[in-house]
Amino acid sequence: MKQRTLAIERLRDWPVRPSNRFLVAGPCSVESKAQVLQSALDLAAYDVTVLRGGIWKPRTHPGSFEGVGIPGLAWLKRAGIEAGLPVTTEVANPCHVQECLKAGIDILWIGARTTTNPFAVQEIADALRGVNIPVMVKNPMNADLELWIGAIERIHNAGITKIMAVHRGFSIYRPSSYRNPPLWRIPIELRRRMPQLPLICDPSHICGSRARLTAIAQEAMDFLFDGLMIEVHCAPAMARSDAAQQLTPTQYGKLLRRLHYPSAADGTRRSSAVRALRKEIDAIDDDLIALLARRMECATKIGSWKRNHNVSLLQLERWEHVLHDRVQRSVKRRLSASFAHELFERIHEEALAVQEQIPAATDRNADAPAPADNAADELESPAPATTLSCRN
Ligand code: PEP
Ligand code: MN
Repeated sequence: MKQRTLAIERLRDWPVRPSNRFLVAGPCSVESKAQVLQSALDLAAYDVTVLRGGIWKPRTHPGSFEGVGIPGLAWLKRAGIEAGLPVTTEVANPCHVQECLKAGIDILWIGARTTTNPFAVQEIADALRGVNIPVMVKNPMNADLELWIGAIERIHNAGITKIMAVHRGFSIYRPSSYRNPPLWRIPIELRRRMPQLPLICDPSHICGSRARLTAIAQEAMDFLFDGLMIEVHCAPAMARSDAAQQLTPTQYGKLLRRLHYPSAADGTRRSSAVRALRKEIDAIDDDLIALLARRMECATKIGSWKRNHNVSLLQLERWEHVLHDRVQRSVKRRLSASFAHELFERIHEEALAVQEQIPAATDRNADAPAPADNAADELESPAPATTLSCRN
């Protein structure tokens, strides 16, 4: 897929000048005038670019704290003024946008749940037409890069030129040590496709706890993200949302001190050792490609045999054995089990897709019962008329 060039301003052209990195910090939710003011003043002692605070909170279950709503906008703005910081909050519909514009909120962000829904993003984009306010777009809950890019395009098409992407991890229905596993390849691919788009990482919502925040923030720096969004609360234990992942301002300062910012320049070229290793990697990749092609040829031959003998393409027992065996062997070679699992699942999926392309033998269904008379018609016939109609 080609790189896209949208008229998005580079970070250096944003009015809020980041010192080293673009650092968004503040509580998950604005809870009271005093809480957001205290958090802002405490934070101002450290490196912060923008103060964050959620006003309307998207919660999984009803009955949870859903934000203080409109009165909180003035508290957030006042806290920002006192701390000398621009402020940002989440908008999920045109009404939120209007209220934020009225309250002088400096930057808006679109949350992960909203990015998932193109209708909602379009409504927000329409409400923003004619107002050039910076907008941060979080990735959608699900691991869908196109949906993320689509939301960015909708905001861009409304005339917004200051757009930033926020990587906050992806929700998966599988036990994980992360609240939202980072799946780095997705934001890295976004960066490749839209290199001018500023991109920051939200380790708070990736981790869901304080435990690995620094490590994830460091990974983001190592992958050349432009900054971070981190939840910081003056008293995390009292927080009404996301208490487990919020840092105290002091902990935030400590995290920043531990980070190092590698240079983007490819200084590795200066090292002859790195050059030699890269040559070796190039040669290994060549071998890998040749091996994969050979493996696929074998799979194709097996596929033809299966087709000719009317045998199902998926052979579950064999596949279970292969997967288990390859993962075990990979682990013995110090590769991670999850990597080996994903890699072989992907290889197998591709092998099945290749086999699927092999035409069925003509006599394959000789013994199969004839299809019901109307079976083909059913596939061809138009969808049944519905009694529902949409309003314009
Ligand atoms: C948040 O930043 O508080 C939030 C709700 O984030 P997300 O949309 O990433 O879940
Ligand atoms: Mn939160």
